[in-house]
Amino acid sequence: MNENVFNSVKELIKKSKLPHAILIDGGSSSERDEVALYIASSFLCNSVLPCGMCKNCIKINNGSHPDVIITDPGLMNEKTFKVNVVRDIRKDVYVLPNESKYKVYILKGADKMNASAQNALLKTLEEPPSYARFILLCESRSAMLETIMSRVTAFGLGSGSGSVESEYETKADNLANELAIALSEVTELRFMQLSSAFEKDKDLFPLVLSSIQLIFRDAVAISTGSDLILSSHADTARILASKLSLKALIGLVGNTEEFFECLNKNANKNLLITRFCSVLRNTAYAG
Ligand SMILES: [Zn+2]
Repeated sequence: MNENVFNSVKELIKKSKLPHAILIDGGSSSERDEVALYIASSFLCNSVLPCGMCKNCIKINNGSHPDVIITDPGLMNEKTFKVNVVRDIRKDVYVLPNESKYKVYILKGADKMNASAQNALLKTLEEPPSYARFILLCESRSAMLETIMSRVTAFGLGSGSGSVESEYETKADNLANELAIALSEVTELRFMQLSSAFEKDKDLFPLVLSSIQLIFRDAVAISTGSDLILSSHADTARILASKLSLKALIGLVGNTEEFFECLNKNANKNLLITRFCSVLRNTAYAG
């Protein structure tokens, strides 16, 4: 289990700062479920951190709590998360909780929603009843609309737990960190040198993209006075926050989202990698 994510979640719970809409991506589906149920329990348990022993915690863990609604297109053998399921949620959300302070919706396979389903959900995320809480689970946030992403607090669990993969992931994460540091330097030489790694190994690109996006998000958080750091590179995020404008940082998050969208549409990876350098540098140092 991703300790970083668990610790961030626990910190938020302790400070009573858990947002009403959360997205969890990456990891295995059982890891995502574990974090989602933990968060749901923290909403409904009387202890600050879920005790695991009370009536609410037990019901949540065995899937029988009437105020924790779990939807899973996979269970119904659906390939997509249908818009009518979202519409049912939109109606159901106005029915008061049965026995608790909150009503928690856990939406598995949120990345299987098409744009119209996501737009339908967006309306509920924008103006939810005060007792409603949403936990969106998906393999990758890159399939989510930007408007949805702007309404949720996202936690990434990383990909897989096999040792080979995680070593590779560490490599990508370190490269993302070095690239982010290089981006804070006025000359582009170092950034160019580092991004030549993609020419040798194109598979690194999406992983680096997802790590560097998290660093940019953290830099935005720092710039706006939030202490919620999600990446493992808080120092780098601080450097970026001190050297780049907030507008530039938000632009960089947007750039990484656009690159994800292109990757999803199977755009030419070589071209994307070539553009990566110039797009990020331009955003960082525009104006
Ligand atoms: Zn409890």
